[in-house]
Amino acid sequence: MDQTIRTNAPAREATPHIEPGPGGPRRLVILGATGSIGQSTAEVIEASPGAFTVEAVVGGRDAKALARMAIRIRARRAVVADPAGYRELTALLAGHGIETGAGPDAVVEAATVPSDLVVAAIVGTAGVLPTYAALEAGRTIALANKESLVCAGYPFMETAGRLGGRLLPMDSEHNAIFQCLGGRDCSSIERMVLTASGGPFRTWGANRISAASREEALAHPNWSMGAKVTIDSASLMNKGLELIEAHHIFDIAPSRLDVLVHPQSIVHGLVYFQDGAVTAGLAPPDMRIPIAHCLGYPDRLATGVPRLDLARIGALTFEEPDMERFPALRIARAALDQGGGLPTVLNAANEVVVEAFLAGRIPFGDIPRRVGAACDAAIADGTARKPASVVDALGVDHIARERTRASLAS
Ligand code: NAD
Ligand code: MG
Repeated sequence: MDQTIRTNAPAREATPHIEPGPGGPRRLVILGATGSIGQSTAEVIEASPGAFTVEAVVGGRDAKALARMAIRIRARRAVVADPAGYRELTALLAGHGIETGAGPDAVVEAATVPSDLVVAAIVGTAGVLPTYAALEAGRTIALANKESLVCAGYPFMETAGRLGGRLLPMDSEHNAIFQCLGGRDCSSIERMVLTASGGPFRTWGANRISAASREEALAHPNWSMGAKVTIDSASLMNKGLELIEAHHIFDIAPSRLDVLVHPQSIVHGLVYFQDGAVTAGLAPPDMRIPIAHCLGYPDRLATGVPRLDLARIGALTFEEPDMERFPALRIARAALDQGGGLPTVLNAANEVVVEAFLAGRIPFGDIPRRVGAACDAAIADGTARKPASVVDALGVDHIARERTRASLAS
């Protein structure tokens, strides 16, 4: 069923837009514009007046928030993924000269309008198709939606390689490593290390973690983020997803990837070179920094982010992650090592169980247990095959998702 809805021709003249030209404003599309990354992206845009035009913004279902954002950053087009939001979005944007649309096809259309950079910040597997469509259309992607690479890393990287597309890592750890690499390939690199804050349960015992409440899991010590990635950070599944993301985006073997717990979240990533030198990427824990790096790349944008004051912080500490207390990281690491379609299964099952935890249906300790069970089931029946295409990956995702949902119902 075609759920695309589009308005009649918009009154474009009503809003004066700067026409981009060579060396002129950079044209952006923002997928997931109403979320945490979307809001920080808007702040980065506002800190560089005249540097960007916003060709399209996409949101999930909150038409009010999307309309507010479209007006705020003077987007040309606003698309809400949920068709039920179309009427409200169109009513709110009437007279603003902003084209509106709704439904999955309109989302893909928005992702592929001519632009210089697509910020991929939809949460979860919902981000896979629009991000991939933008990549296939030859766009440069600033990738926050790590689930795209966990679900469909092989086809994404194959397409990027074939079309010469570029993926700029926006996730803070990958962005730090990207900056450490300074454009070099990975041939002289021994190891890459992603740091993890350790989340709110870093010092808790296993039983207490298993019984943690929604509020406790949502109380991240260092970062303010959307609910899904915050829960993933509490279980350390987020770091597991990020190892898989790093494997694909930097084309580095799983055995060369490590995690280090670093509670201050100042060092985000480290690169060990073959001569023994180590380069580390430091910044205050503020997503506006990696966002600005991607939006300005290869130039630097100014941000008003408070500057790093190492004397005030005093000490940076590091510790090994505890795979016993945080089994989600062990399960994700195993999925990375095993490869094939296992990361796809891991990602799908995790999304379902995190939603169930947020809805109060399962305890926190069930998150890794049920994701592990989904991976075991997929290995046992052969559904964890290596996806040959994005459609194939979404098929593996669908089976794992349905199976995990069924296990929750029984
Ligand atoms: P969020 O929940 O705050 O925002 C998610 C956005 O996706 C919203 O705009 C929402 O409307 C949109 N969305 C949800 N379902 C959709 C659908 N079906 N179709 C279209 N849009 C949909 O999440 P966030 O914290 O901004 O994270 C976004 C992505 O960035 C995630 O993949 C996350 O892992 C990654 N990331 C976030 C941070 C952070 O600091 N927030 C850091 C690194 C990476
Ligand atoms: Mg991260």
